[in-house]
Amino acid sequence: MLNFEDAPAPKKTVAPSSFGAPVSMHASGVETPEHSVAATAAKVAAADSFSRVRAEDKRIINGTADVNQLVPFKYKWAWDKYLAGCANHWMPQEINMSRDIAQWKDPTALSEDERRIVMRNLGFFTTADSLAANNIVLGTYRHITAPECRQYMLRQAFEEAIHTHAYQYIVESLALDEGEVFNAYHEITSIREKDEFLMPFIDVLSNPEFKTGTFENDQALLKSLIVFACIMEGLFFYVGFVQILALGRQNKMTGAAEQYQYILRDESMHCNFGIDLINTIKQENPQLWTPAFREEIRDLIQRGVELEYRYAEDTMPRGVLGLNSAMFKEYLRFIANRRCQQIGLDELYENADNPFPWMSEMVDLKKEKNFFETRVTEYQTGGALSWE
Ligand code: FE
Repeated sequence: MLNFEDAPAPKKTVAPSSFGAPVSMHASGVETPEHSVAATAAKVAAADSFSRVRAEDKRIINGTADVNQLVPFKYKWAWDKYLAGCANHWMPQEINMSRDIAQWKDPTALSEDERRIVMRNLGFFTTADSLAANNIVLGTYRHITAPECRQYMLRQAFEEAIHTHAYQYIVESLALDEGEVFNAYHEITSIREKDEFLMPFIDVLSNPEFKTGTFENDQALLKSLIVFACIMEGLFFYVGFVQILALGRQNKMTGAAEQYQYILRDESMHCNFGIDLINTIKQENPQLWTPAFREEIRDLIQRGVELEYRYAEDTMPRGVLGLNSAMFKEYLRFIANRRCQQIGLDELYENADNPFPWMSEMVDLKKEKNFFETRVTEYQTGGALSWE
């Protein structure tokens, strides 16, 4: 048993460890050797009575139930998303890039403005998904005490790695200057500003001193989750997605567009998972959702819209592909309203419409060719096992 509820005299200074059981922590947040996995297991074996995990005892944050026990399920929505994520598995190198390579080399195939869109997109996304992965692994994960949610986050972390792989694969296929692309988040103002906005919300959670369990810290965690789900994955990705998918709709850079389509589907699941996580934390901890906190979140979303709009203007100094930055002002307002509504906030903008209704079809790949059916077998046989 790893539930220490009935174990002899846990210290008052305990905090949930990465194993979900209360253990002493150094100020650094690092577990002491006597609380290593082996020591915990020894204590477990020695304990003569314990209580089994009950679903009703689980909590998304500050839970004390054993996080090593996936079942009994309480947060079935998280498990279902984990299964859906696995069912959508894909790998970048399965997508043929030869047409993209030919178009990129052909000076007449793409305009300067279209090339700028591709370069800016990769400039933002090559580092954005690493940032998202690091935020999960080094920041959020240890503060979430529901094993079903951790299970999804492990899947999500791998998907972020696949996305970074996909962008790297495009950069390599097109023989782009990788230094230019990977440093864009330092060198291109519209990209740097988005990342600078996000960094404090990653730093707070990855600080080893940070622990949930106080009103202020629980609000800080909730705020970071909202920033990541609703602003990073739910807003900052969307100008880029629309642009590359618009290229694909005009039969340009179709390999890259196909990769972005799979990424968009994964990302919309990340966003929805984050929203379910946020709403469940709100439900379990209604005291956190104060009027002042709600106002702060609305301000952050508004700031996110401004930053993403500036990125739209920078990536499209002129109209291109039937798109222009004014359309994105409307689109970003429409998405921001949707995010507000999804987490129970009043909408920020009046009468914002969706100028890109075709985007919802892009998220829903049901009509797509049987990409996934054709590839399942390859995964099963790809690393054929041999006992010889
Ligand atoms: Fe993501």
